[in-house]
Amino acid sequence: MSESKSKPGWKSIPIAGLLLEPGSSLKYKTGDWRAYRPVIDVEKCINCLLCWIYCPDAAIVRMEKHVAVNYDYCKGCGICKSECPVNAIEMVEEKR
Ligand code: SF4
Ligand code: SF4
Repeated sequence: MSESKSKPGWKSIPIAGLLLEPGSSLKYKTGDWRAYRPVIDVEKCINCLLCWIYCPDAAIVRMEKHVAVNYDYCKGCGICKSECPVNAIEMVEEKR
């Protein structure tokens, strides 16, 4: 299988995969990797923000009365579901 010409080759990647551009994580929409997505039941959410604190990707977005998920950066790890005290988050398989 041939690699797309638009992708960088190994010679153009910095040694040890170092990130040389500060703040570049915004460019990498890690939601592409996700196999399961968190779905929030806003009727159950008590806006405690535990999911916002524990999300390793800062993918939980604070709203006025509940939270939401930024699916561009959510990797689907399920930590938010594990930490939610009222079971307001369900992990649903992604459909490709
Ligand atoms: S599944 Fe993981 S990455 Fe996605 S919102 Fe929950 S804690 Fe964050
Ligand atoms: S942990 Fe659960 S109840 Fe708390 S803000 Fe997140 S979804 Fe809402």
